[in-house]
Amino acid sequence: MKAASSALFLEFSLLCEKLSSTSSNSEKVRLLASYLRNLESEDLGIAVDFLLGRASRVRSSEGRANVAFATVRDALCQVVTFSDDQLLQLYKEHGDLGEVAMELLSSGHAAPLVRGQLTLKRIRDGMDDIASAQGSGSEKRKVMTLTGLLLDSSPLEAKYLIKILTSDMRIGVSEGFIAEAAAEAFSVGKEAVRKAYLLVNDMSKVAVMAKEGRLSDAGFSLFTPIRPMLAEPASSARQIIDDMGRCYVEDKYDGIRLQVHKKGGEVRLYSRAMDDVTRFFPEIVEQISRLNEDFALDGELIYEAGGRLRFFSLQKLLRNEGRREKHPLKFVAFDALYAKGRSLLDLPLVERKRELFALGYDNCAPFKEVSAPEDLERAFKDSIARGNEGIVAKDPESTYQPGARGKRWFKLKKALDTLDVVVIGAQYGNGKRKGLLSDYVFAVRRSRDDPTLVPIGKAYSGLTDEELRDYHDFFMRNKIGEKGNTVWVLPRLVIEVGFQSIQRSARYESGYALRFPRIISVRADKKLDEIDDLQRVEDLFKAQG
Ligand code: AMP
Repeated sequence: MKAASSALFLEFSLLCEKLSSTSSNSEKVRLLASYLRNLESEDLGIAVDFLLGRASRVRSSEGRANVAFATVRDALCQVVTFSDDQLLQLYKEHGDLGEVAMELLSSGHAAPLVRGQLTLKRIRDGMDDIASAQGSGSEKRKVMTLTGLLLDSSPLEAKYLIKILTSDMRIGVSEGFIAEAAAEAFSVGKEAVRKAYLLVNDMSKVAVMAKEGRLSDAGFSLFTPIRPMLAEPASSARQIIDDMGRCYVEDKYDGIRLQVHKKGGEVRLYSRAMDDVTRFFPEIVEQISRLNEDFALDGELIYEAGGRLRFFSLQKLLRNEGRREKHPLKFVAFDALYAKGRSLLDLPLVERKRELFALGYDNCAPFKEVSAPEDLERAFKDSIARGNEGIVAKDPESTYQPGARGKRWFKLKKALDTLDVVVIGAQYGNGKRKGLLSDYVFAVRRSRDDPTLVPIGKAYSGLTDEELRDYHDFFMRNKIGEKGNTVWVLPRLVIEVGFQSIQRSARYESGYALRFPRIISVRADKKLDEIDDLQRVEDLFKAQG
């Protein structure tokens, strides 16, 4: 089953095929467990990463090992002949680049006489090489590396190679399944695996710890960010009170989620996706490092003067330093995760708040205790009057549950809600915007469990020309094909759209259309699996009355 020193990629690909063709959760766990059980530690870590669509651990300058569509196309071109039209047609049929690669290679590709063997380690090395390529000539190097791997791939291996590279696995395997499978494979408790995962926040590390009997080493540690706890959308103040009774209510700030870790003179900042973003906010580092204690805080980065704070990319933020001087930022802390040398995650919110306010930090989010819907409504109105987005209501007895949207925190936003969607195509504008992609076609997920994208609308963007040009380039790098006036792109850019109302409509596959849609912000901090689904569209549609 194994090559000299690493497991075969073909076995991995076959496992993925089996996983995607079963809808039984217990069968998925069984398949995973019997595969993972036989792997050496290093392969185990790689396999878990790949199953979760994590190609490489090397961070590129953008913070992630993203590869442009053009890179994949250029590498495919080296091993098989096809036209642009054929490529677009295939993508439209499958909606999945991995399937496209498999189909293209099935038609016969330029395989070498003696095919090299693809192992997990070899693929990982290739992915690392692609992720670390930078500067001039990097595009060529990426294409060469990928071509090398594709030449040794069977069509099935090519499918999963591309899926891993584009972080688009769609095999219905989440961290939860891996946790269960690791428990089964290595005969350890599910709860122990789950707990370690919440703290270590890295399933491949946890799987290896489970294999090596080291789960009890897991603990919250400074400079290892954890997944932020999330809030469930609520439709009314009454619903929140019915659910929780007494709660703490805070303003919902319109900024960027940030986790701040401090130990001695060192301060590090982490985004919602747990990327290290310290270098982008020197002023926050400076403010925090003045404090005495060591701690980890959860909160929101906002404009000191209020107003919406969202960026297309952090790189762009750096370019706009002048703006920062005129519009200073501040970090509002609403939770404490670690203080006085110990983790606070298992303490109820009441006590975490006490620890937070004891730190002597000037910008802790004010909160109030309420138990009547009218008080919650008043808090909501006050927050809107202060220019914030709404409120977040939290159960004072709840522990901090990393990554969970678990009905212990509720968010209530302005009357007319917005949708988080992903851009799947863009159209050229007119007049001043001729030649510039300026109308975006977007989609939501079919359901929480089904990641298929269903189109729901098109919005003329309210972005500046400079921003439009940035996106234009971004879309061209992720272009799959072009038909008529529309450029179809890989679903990578998450945006928040506002609208006047939702209507039923046969125009889009979703069965709904948005009236007067407009782009409110680009959610560079959100990933594809965090966009809204059709269920939420339906809920909003019904809520309109
Ligand atoms: P949304 O981005 O609409 O999914 O809302 C959730 C986000 O609201 C969180 O991830 C935070 O970034 C943000 N937020 C703003 N104020 C608070 C608060 N007081 N408590 C928790 N989250 C907040």
